[in-house]
Amino acid sequence: MAPPRFVADEMVGRLARYLRFVGCDTIYARGWPDDEILRVARDDQRILLTRDRALARRSEHALLLTSVGIADQWKAVRAALPSVPDEIAFVRCTECNGEIVPYVPGAHDPRHEGVPWERVANGLPLYRCRACGHLYWEGSHTAHLRTQLARWTAESSP
Ligand SMILES: [Zn+2]
Repeated sequence: MAPPRFVADEMVGRLARYLRFVGCDTIYARGWPDDEILRVARDDQRILLTRDRALARRSEHALLLTSVGIADQWKAVRAALPSVPDEIAFVRCTECNGEIVPYVPGAHDPRHEGVPWERVANGLPLYRCRACGHLYWEGSHTAHLRTQLARWTAESSP
């Protein structure tokens, strides 16, 4: 089953990035008028994530978040929607929500793109956003995120 899709309003940008980390298609509606956010939630069948009570009330697909902190927001989303994964998937670009695909460096020198050379030399997986070109790979950043997500899941277990 495909993970749920979201449209996140301006106030929950950090949460939007975390949802992309785990592979959820998440539009970050920064600076959008309320009507446009509501239209996309409805027409595109996305769950609206917001901390705005009045906005949430106007949508049948809203999940109202009452916490400011990312940990509590994350736990609230997973409690409401257990089909949201808690494992990193290299599927959605955290920068732009574009699709991420495996990337094989071409003849050019990938060092110019900031890829650690050892990864290329050792044939380790790289990923690239189709839309913005941002590159991804397993590293200390992903290890840290995994630990964080695992901790939040453990803290949410009864
Ligand atoms: Zn991107």
